[in-house]
Amino acid sequence: QAEQDAAMIASRIRHSVRHKILVLSGKGGVGKSTVSAQLALCLAAMGKQVGLLDVDVCGPSIPHMLGVPAEEVRMSNSGWSPVYVEENLAVMSIGFMLPSRDNAIIWRGARKTGLIKQFLRDVHWGELDYLVIDSPPGTSDEHISLVQMLNQSHIDGAIIVTTPQEVSLLDVRKEINFCRKSDTRVLGVVENMAGFVCQHCDNCTDIFFPSSGGALQMCQQMNVPYLGKIPLDPAVSKASELGKSVFEQPKSLGVKALRVVVEAVR
Ligand code: ADP
Repeated sequence: QAEQDAAMIASRIRHSVRHKILVLSGKGGVGKSTVSAQLALCLAAMGKQVGLLDVDVCGPSIPHMLGVPAEEVRMSNSGWSPVYVEENLAVMSIGFMLPSRDNAIIWRGARKTGLIKQFLRDVHWGELDYLVIDSPPGTSDEHISLVQMLNQSHIDGAIIVTTPQEVSLLDVRKEINFCRKSDTRVLGVVENMAGFVCQHCDNCTDIFFPSSGGALQMCQQMNVPYLGKIPLDPAVSKASELGKSVFEQPKSLGVKALRVVVEAVR
């Protein structure tokens, strides 16, 4: 059955979607959705046709981060129509299906996996240059099904988001091993919340222990690309809260590393 599903999904998106990018993190709260949302916004601003699929079933934050928290999806003959943030940026999330934003989703793995399958199979994206998939944190049943379902559709690879702490890096090692076992290429690791730069004196203060260098070292040890650091940046937080692109604020310190992420998927 899993193979049949994968074949059906592959036939649906293999040719209509040129690049498929998975965004992963070992832990929650490290900025995975922020990176997914900003990546999608930046690619769309570059004129690409972009889809952003939020399969973080228990914590769907993409609708809020793209400024469309109260939209609803519609069913048509060709499947679910995604919500269009821009003419060339379409979004799909379970957040659009909840009666209220405060509703909790308490589902077992099989039901979550079923919904992810439906999202991959039934959303009518049209032709896309990029499909960015914001996944749940960790390496759970949902991830195994997700890569099983996507593998036949020739996924480009995964961007992994971490914070500098060893507790987060430990989980990233698991994430990299998961990618290896599932034949998913690691496009690179981005280190988010890496220090806070004072807006007044430009000094960078490390917030987390160990201070810096851990993610780079881990990438070298595990032979995967290190994409750079995004500091804790009020402009990033503001952009996420307002559903805007941080790239509209070129002075933002987070933009430099986010550009490297964009380059890694192009
Ligand atoms: P995850 O998807 O990993 O659970 P989120 O992307 O939801 O994490 O980020 C958690 C919170 O941290 C959000 O409120 C987001 O705006 C904020 N955040 C993430 N990265 C940064 C950053 N570099 N600077 C400032 N705030 C950030």
